[in-house]
Amino acid sequence: MKRKRSEKLWKRALRVFPGGVNSPVRAFKSVGGDPVFINRGKGTHIVDADGNKYLDFLSSWGPLILGHAPRKVVKATRRAALKGSTFGAVTEAEVKLGEFITESLPFVEKVRFVSSGTEAVMTALRLARGITQRPMVIKFEGCYHGHNDALLARAGSGLLTLSGNIAESSSPGVPDDIVRNTLVLPLDDSAALDAAIKNFGKQIACAIIEPLPANAGLLPQRKAYIEYLVTLCRSHNILVIFDEVISGFRLGFGGYTGREQIFPDIITYGKIIGGGLPVGAIAGSQKVMDHLAPQGPVYQAGTLSGNPLAMTAGLAALEQLAGRRGATYRYLESLGVQLETAFQNGISPLFAGRDWQIRLVRDASLFWLSFHNAGETAPVRQVTQIVPFAATIYARIFHAMLDRGFYLAPSAYEVGFLNAAMKPRHIEAFVAALKKVIAELPDK
Ligand code: PMP
Repeated sequence: MKRKRSEKLWKRALRVFPGGVNSPVRAFKSVGGDPVFINRGKGTHIVDADGNKYLDFLSSWGPLILGHAPRKVVKATRRAALKGSTFGAVTEAEVKLGEFITESLPFVEKVRFVSSGTEAVMTALRLARGITQRPMVIKFEGCYHGHNDALLARAGSGLLTLSGNIAESSSPGVPDDIVRNTLVLPLDDSAALDAAIKNFGKQIACAIIEPLPANAGLLPQRKAYIEYLVTLCRSHNILVIFDEVISGFRLGFGGYTGREQIFPDIITYGKIIGGGLPVGAIAGSQKVMDHLAPQGPVYQAGTLSGNPLAMTAGLAALEQLAGRRGATYRYLESLGVQLETAFQNGISPLFAGRDWQIRLVRDASLFWLSFHNAGETAPVRQVTQIVPFAATIYARIFHAMLDRGFYLAPSAYEVGFLNAAMKPRHIEAFVAALKKVIAELPDK
């Protein structure tokens, strides 16, 4: 594949952006090589700057559940653009999206729109701390919630074991002081949760979790564990935040919350809710949400919050997803089942006699290639269970697939996304290519 224009653009990008990018993982650091510049996308495919075409399993990291440039979303957004892109004043577009969401999701009474998932989480944390008048937050190892200071934290060194797991900063620029109020706990570990709440209960404002963790592989949690988390927190007046930036409108219209009928106090959304434009949202009961300014004292604002273009794109996408009694989600599920079956039949047998294997982890239209030593069958629920050789082998798979015209996430720790523009033949082609690539891999 020729990538001359991409190479030239990369040189220019390196001169003007730190590391050549505006978001780190785009730089292909963890798979090596130079990134491919994307010029356009339509439906299932993206086309790079040199005209090479790829079947896209990244979907811009999740927003594009309908595929690229879906007709109705483009049409509505174009019409909105012609009317002016931003006013910094209230508009009908935001009311329509707000109403659509609150009317469709029984567990959402009020919502506040912002411009990214990070911003939604930042506001959710502030809201929880403002309501409870408590400083501490619990986060879980392997969950990602955007680049919020308080959550750029990893579990402490163990010196403080007795008092829990007070976090250390995981990025220069985030002073340890800022994450001193963050407790980092392993997923799937009720005992760790018990201990943290026993030690710090009255100081903890909230626990934030991706109820389906999808940022360190796909780590489906036991429903009983998530229920335990919610019940335990509730009995200590600790608010629960479900970060549904990926899972919201993805696992079904109601996301994890709607599907599992486990109800947190605050939900954060992003990605799909903006139909491919920059939107995030904080959602919850009226009682909780009314603590936000100007109704309540917890401050939050944004020049482009509720931007009419983004609201219009979001509404067009969500209407389509909610339409035909959820047929889009049933279709996506059928593609997921097809992928799973084809993987079982075509790829799993390739690992017979090898000392490692790949398993496919899937939930709805999210999937992840999970690497294991031979014979391991236990489900992976914690980030520490991911084997170190995953990164090296995945890098080979990634590049071999890219050269065959399949665009996957450029990191072993990221998930894949199916979208509703895909047809069964696309899944077939993907599995056939993956089969060839894996068959040619040397042992680890
Ligand atoms: N929360 C979750 C669960 C996410 O996956 C992400 C981004 N992938 C974020 C928050 C941050 O969203 P954004 O990149 O829009 O700031």
